[in-house]
Amino acid sequence: MQAGNVFTDAIERLVRIGQEAGIQPEVIDALRQPKATHSAALPVRMDDGRTQYFQAYRCRYNDAIGPAKGGIRYHPGVTLEEVQALALWMTIKCSVVGLPYGGGKGGVIVDPKKLSRLELERLSRAYMRAMADFVGPDIDIPAPDVYTNARIMGWMADEYQAIKRAKAPGVITGKPVELGGSLGRDEATGRGAFVVIQAYAQRKGLDPTETTVAVQGFGNAGYHVARLLQGAGYRVVAVSDSKGGIYSAKGFDIDSLYHTKQESRQLKGVYCEGGICELVDHQKISNEELLELDVDILVPAALEGVITSKNVDRIKARTIAEVANGPLESAADGPLHERGITVLPDVLTNAGGVTVSYFEWVQNRQGYPWTLDEVRGRLADVMNAAFDAIWAYREEHGVSTRAAAYAVSLKRIANAISMQGTQEYFNAD
Ligand code: GLU
Repeated sequence: MQAGNVFTDAIERLVRIGQEAGIQPEVIDALRQPKATHSAALPVRMDDGRTQYFQAYRCRYNDAIGPAKGGIRYHPGVTLEEVQALALWMTIKCSVVGLPYGGGKGGVIVDPKKLSRLELERLSRAYMRAMADFVGPDIDIPAPDVYTNARIMGWMADEYQAIKRAKAPGVITGKPVELGGSLGRDEATGRGAFVVIQAYAQRKGLDPTETTVAVQGFGNAGYHVARLLQGAGYRVVAVSDSKGGIYSAKGFDIDSLYHTKQESRQLKGVYCEGGICELVDHQKISNEELLELDVDILVPAALEGVITSKNVDRIKARTIAEVANGPLESAADGPLHERGITVLPDVLTNAGGVTVSYFEWVQNRQGYPWTLDEVRGRLADVMNAAFDAIWAYREEHGVSTRAAAYAVSLKRIANAISMQGTQEYFNAD
């Protein structure tokens, strides 16, 4: 997607679905723009002694239901509009799964792969120094997103606590377990998506052993969802990362792929020499080819805007499970719905990450850590309840799963906004 269009596209989709679902215009108006966005140029001392400036953002989109919540992304393609779109999606997502949160997001324009570990630490601490007055356990709670991880969250939490001169682990989630993180947070996005796909497969009477899956993006979420699907008997026939992908009709052993990737730092290592190449029949494919494979379930788990008006007609998958945020442009919604392709939308499918972030925040506030079984059990309960509510709405109103998810979510946000009083309320006799 072209930079700058992603926010406009997100608003168009919101307004269209909101109007169709009968959401009050003043509620839609409240969600047309972020509540506040903070931008900063982060000065970072580089290893060669130079100071380099990195553009950074934090957007608090809406906090009608509770403090804003959402990750921080490090990527060279970050734009203000992208951060705002992602923050809007977080608002919808938190409400889809009934969390007591609004939505927010942050980003830094940087290629983190080009930084040394020390530079990455300085950048992360600089981000928190710039944003410390704008975030907080009761204001806006960041977390990991694309190319950020637990260690970065740990540095940011430490910086915040140094500024505030007090322990406040609830300022940020996705921390290392040793520093107040939750068990099960690392796998949470993938596990939540797995629960949703399983619930859907059950409704549709799909037999996992006869169901093929292609996963685009082999980062944290893509890996865990692929691993769990394979464990449940699904045949994961294609996987890709930013460098390219591999296909095997027989299916891959996901853990071997993951370990090979960890060693070579990219999936490419998997299909060149040694290791897996000798064990598995495979074929090299591009990311574009992976998206167009004839599979039962396509899982875009990388970045936004990969299925657009340009390639939507070539999509052959029967179901798309959006594990990335915003992988489909809104122009693709109609054509896919008309062709009977079910889209399990991002605001439901990838909500497992923020759900366990919420569990982490609760554990931090209670000072009482949960077991892994508790985390997994409660995550499954939240995801199944959200899926059931959305599926019931979809069946009752004959709309797409995305429209149903937005409707369920927007009604909750609307109720919170309405409780402060609407025009109708104030004008009543
Ligand atoms: N970045 C993740 C997302 O887009 C997680 C957000 C969070 O845990 O707050 O949902």
